[in-house]
Amino acid sequence: MRLLLIGAPGAGKGTQAELLAERLGITHISSGDLLRQHVRDSTTLGQTIRSYVDQGDLVPDGVVMDMLRKPVVAASETGGYVLDGIPRNIEQARAAYKIGLELGMTADVALHLEADDAELTRRLLARAALEHRSDDTAEVIAQRLALYYDVTAPILAWYRDRGILVSVDAMRSAPEVGREILAALEAMRPFLEDGPVRERLPVDLTSLGEAFGAASTAE
Ligand code: ADP
Repeated sequence: MRLLLIGAPGAGKGTQAELLAERLGITHISSGDLLRQHVRDSTTLGQTIRSYVDQGDLVPDGVVMDMLRKPVVAASETGGYVLDGIPRNIEQARAAYKIGLELGMTADVALHLEADDAELTRRLLARAALEHRSDDTAEVIAQRLALYYDVTAPILAWYRDRGILVSVDAMRSAPEVGREILAALEAMRPFLEDGPVRERLPVDLTSLGEAFGAASTAE
């Protein structure tokens, strides 16, 4: 199983990626973690990376894509990968697809985690209090959210057109979101293994939570 996770900062990409990696026996690749490791190592590249991350800006595509190939190759030893944080713009989406084609490891599913801005900001500020990440300040959070809508959200259409987009409602608790993703992936498994990608239709589960809520109030 090879998965991409797409969602705004605070949507829960890291949390869900960890859960999925564990449950599916695949490798978790996080661009944020790889970049922060460079910063911790205080290499020259790390100092450059830091200047972007601390401002809430995207690190240049070349730097990010160079980091990707090695962990993707390593992931072929496991059952696949869950990629968290890449791609973040259309150039990265194309580059990731190209690397996937070269390695015979293109993504099977692009998972879109949907949550509204108020919830995203609330979660990021709560994380700031716990983790002290340099980019979890109100000002930098606003910049990261703006960038998400400007350059990342438009790539969803690309995955929708490729027929591999699955959208889930990420406003609920992490275990609930995780269960829904696993159920959706399980239901899709036969198609993933056999069906040509172009015959698939996008899957939109974002209104499921509401539907269940509506059912329970009707009881
Ligand atoms: P979040 O999704 O909450 O912003 P991440 O840990 O994924 O957290 O990313 C933190 C920061 O790392 C981003 O704001 C950006 O500066 C940088 N970054 C992560 N992934 C990428 C990427 N694919 N391209 C460019 N910059 C990235």
